[in-house]
Amino acid sequence: PETITVSELANRMAARGGDVVKALFRMGVMATLTQSIDADTAQLVVEEFGHRVKRVADSDVEIGLEGETDEDGELMPRPPVVTVMGHVDHGKTSLLDALRRTDVAAREAGGITQHIGAYQVQMKNGERITFLDTPGHEAFTAMRARGAGVTDMVVLVVAADDGVMPQTVEAIHHAKAAGVPLIVAINKIDKDGVNPDRVRNELLQHEIVVEELGGDTQEIQVSATKGIGLDKLAEAISLQAEVLELRANPDRMGEGTVIESKLDRGRGPVATVLVQRGTLRTGDNVVAGAEWGRVRALVNDKGQQVKEAGPSVPVEVLGLSGVPSAGEPLVVVEDESRAREISEFRQRKVREKAAAALTAGRGSLTDMLA
Ligand code: GDP
Ligand code: MG
Repeated sequence: PETITVSELANRMAARGGDVVKALFRMGVMATLTQSIDADTAQLVVEEFGHRVKRVADSDVEIGLEGETDEDGELMPRPPVVTVMGHVDHGKTSLLDALRRTDVAAREAGGITQHIGAYQVQMKNGERITFLDTPGHEAFTAMRARGAGVTDMVVLVVAADDGVMPQTVEAIHHAKAAGVPLIVAINKIDKDGVNPDRVRNELLQHEIVVEELGGDTQEIQVSATKGIGLDKLAEAISLQAEVLELRANPDRMGEGTVIESKLDRGRGPVATVLVQRGTLRTGDNVVAGAEWGRVRALVNDKGQQVKEAGPSVPVEVLGLSGVPSAGEPLVVVEDESRAREISEFRQRKVREKAAAALTAGRGSLTDMLA
């Protein structure tokens, strides 16, 4: 029979066994590392982890990951995906707005900006940076818990006049837990009497050593409201991106993560998706969490309809059967029947889990998942 042990499956995905057990649990399947699961279940787990599955043959146990077959020559440089974090009122929103106004492409498009949860800025030298706008720290944690490694780096905003505060420390922990590098943006340097050295020393206590103190964390002094240091910050992001050698194969079926979603009165379910590999196109059959659909339209961060979106590009996806949750993977599948099948399987699992939670007594399942 077509089965695979949980540990073998984890092995092939280069994932931790415990994470696979947890993913199965979320799907309503109780299994230990040494137990076997059927190929259908395995396939869904693999997709949950953001990979695409290739069944080798009906009689064959193999669940090959196409993700592993990307040849070096197929991998193309992709823009970095950046999350801005920091303590409340330290200037995250102001900085994101200021960076957005530096976008060369937006000016060409007549300055039309749309508020979707992520946007891409084109710098003067033509390079692009994708900024995630939504994640509060909670959303970030939720996405990480789902295994969605959406961000490549964190820009930590610290107000020079306030210094390191509780949410600053929290952001440092998030970046460390996610294993992504951090760039420090000391903000509000336009204010009188502010002292960056104080911020540097406070960061030191949390093991963030900026270059100015001989460490390897880049630090940029900025003023979001006065527009100071924005080019330098963009350069720092580019430099970090170069170090990370961010690449993806644009030439395969699209895969990404839902960043935010809503039910729009006129347009129906709308999911903002960050494409992470491959290219997502209008007309594609997709599964997003437990929802499915045929992509009716793609809308970019400037409110323009586009035919396709490649790696690191955020787009609104229209045409889904319902509203998927933030952090859930979106994958293109070969046809509509496959999309329906996966969606139905997931919806059944969601219902079963809900029923199990009721039987098990209030709160116990959610307690275990928390
Ligand atoms: P958030 O809570 O981190 O998103 O912070 P906001 O962007 O909402 O900014 C909080 C307050 O700080 C607002 O009143 C901003 O106008 C102000 N602010 C943000 N950046 C700067 C800056 O560079 N200089 C000065 N003087 N004020 C700033
Ligand atoms: Mg804000």
